[in-house]
Amino acid sequence: MRWSRMHVPTLRDDPAEAGAPSHRLLLRAGFIRQLMAGHYSLLPMGTRVRAKVIGIIRDELDRIGAQEFLLPTMHPAGIWRKTGRWESMGEEMFRLRDRKDADLALGMTHEEIFTTLAAELSSYRELPQIWYQFQLKYRDEPRPKAGLMRVREFTMKDSYSFDLDADGLDHSFALHRDAYARIFARLGIPAIAVEASTGAMGGSASTEFMCPSPVGEDTVVHCPGCGYAANVEKAVAALPAVDDAEPPASPQRFDTPDARTIEELAAGHGAAADRQIKTLVYLLDDELTLVLLRGDHQLNEQKLADATGAAVIRPAHADEIRAALGASPGSLGAVGVTGLPVLADAALRGRRDMFTGANVDGVHLRGVDIARDITVGRWVELREVAAGEPCVACGQPLATQRAIEVGHIFKLGDRYTKALGVTVLAPDGAPTKVIMGSYGIGVERALAAIVETHHDDSGIVWPVAVAPYQVAVVAAQADDDEVTAVSEQLYAALTAAGHEVILDDRAERAGVKFRDVELVGIPLRVTVGRRGLADGVVELTVRATGHTDRIRPDDAVKAVE
Ligand code: ATP
Ligand code: MG
Ligand code: MG
Ligand code: MG
Repeated sequence: MRWSRMHVPTLRDDPAEAGAPSHRLLLRAGFIRQLMAGHYSLLPMGTRVRAKVIGIIRDELDRIGAQEFLLPTMHPAGIWRKTGRWESMGEEMFRLRDRKDADLALGMTHEEIFTTLAAELSSYRELPQIWYQFQLKYRDEPRPKAGLMRVREFTMKDSYSFDLDADGLDHSFALHRDAYARIFARLGIPAIAVEASTGAMGGSASTEFMCPSPVGEDTVVHCPGCGYAANVEKAVAALPAVDDAEPPASPQRFDTPDARTIEELAAGHGAAADRQIKTLVYLLDDELTLVLLRGDHQLNEQKLADATGAAVIRPAHADEIRAALGASPGSLGAVGVTGLPVLADAALRGRRDMFTGANVDGVHLRGVDIARDITVGRWVELREVAAGEPCVACGQPLATQRAIEVGHIFKLGDRYTKALGVTVLAPDGAPTKVIMGSYGIGVERALAAIVETHHDDSGIVWPVAVAPYQVAVVAAQADDDEVTAVSEQLYAALTAAGHEVILDDRAERAGVKFRDVELVGIPLRVTVGRRGLADGVVELTVRATGHTDRIRPDDAVKAVE
């Protein structure tokens, strides 16, 4: 490909709307453009990387004997009603109605639809099966965020295993777990496998693959001693309940809005030393009380909801809450402090129907006056997992870390096959429920996680396996005949040797070209310039290290190997 022919609209400056490095760099380097919040177009460079990511995932799925399908994205409501998820998916599901008034869903996942295909399996002899697809998922996320990281429309590799029994499921699950480890290693994503809760999927166990990153929305708890690693939700659930905490007579008053950390808040109120006091209740003003937990954790949502009957808000929504309250940042300052993840969680989930999402006016809680109703006047007993606390498996202090969820695998059991009546004949001739697993990787989120992991001040640094092109041949002076001739020769020779090469033949200054090649993140740059040619050499520069070698043009193909 010739750069002069390719649409790579790089931007000189950082786009104002982008915070996360992947968001900023993918926009700047001309990989993506936003259509509306949560919906992005992939430009040619972005499309190439996405294809590489898909290629690696497909390769590893095929290796474990999985078969590729392609299912519709639009589904009849009836199938979702049978599993109860037409209702339980709530506002996250996009719904529409056709001209005959039939209710339809845009698929947010495909358990239901794959399970209906599994109805044609009739005998245990056909098991196990592993089926997968790359298909769009639609989720009406309350808060699309950080470019490709959290969008409303994304490609998922979703696979589904069908086994005769729990042992079979264990095997299919282990195959996926290992395949995922290989996939993330090949993608250059340093993902760690952590125990997780099963959430809306249901089932008995699940493992998330987490890419450590300061911009991650999840918190991973891990033990340097025994290797225990879990999503913080799961770690909290594993703790024994505290039931001997003394309720305080009244809520603590919080009137130091500019305090920066929860430790300072706690110290100021004499609560830090008391490990039994797991939850601090602060009255922010006469109307609004917030429940704050120490440390990085998520709380037991049901418990909080039961204890308080209150709407509970995630810190991710802090800006919206502020906007809705018309509050100054100071008066809700604690909400956004890093490491103070939980304002509360449950009621927002439990009463998700109230939450109509963010728009220009901020958050709308249907029929709820936030300032009045999100008031927790009572003591709430909750366990916390904070950095430095002993935990769950071996009693050693835990460490916590922010991370991006790049993949998630579930042992589903018979939830879906039962609801949809999928059985096969067992060896003894009796009909038996098929046991399922499901396994997801977000393709574009993985792409963003790669950028989060591999970038520097000058731009993206693609790992070779996913780079849009492996080599850029830069003609430093495109108006020089010899430079052009040698550039064309190298371009042809490297392409013939099987490399994906882009020739920067633009009539631009060399500095502009170098800047773009670095921003776009091409792993190797071969620079052909007048001065070098006078000495009989071209330059080979490694993007990741900046290391440059002067080589003879004839040696370029060998040097790039
Ligand atoms: P999250 O907790 O981030 O909302 P999830 O747990 O809802 O994700 P799953 O249902 O487990 O997601 O879906 C499997 C994978 O799909 C996730 O691990 C992630 O890689 C990807 N994914 C989920 N939601 C989104 C989204 N809104 N945008 C991009 N990728 C997503
Ligand atoms: Mg989600
Ligand atoms: Mg999740
Ligand atoms: Mg998940």
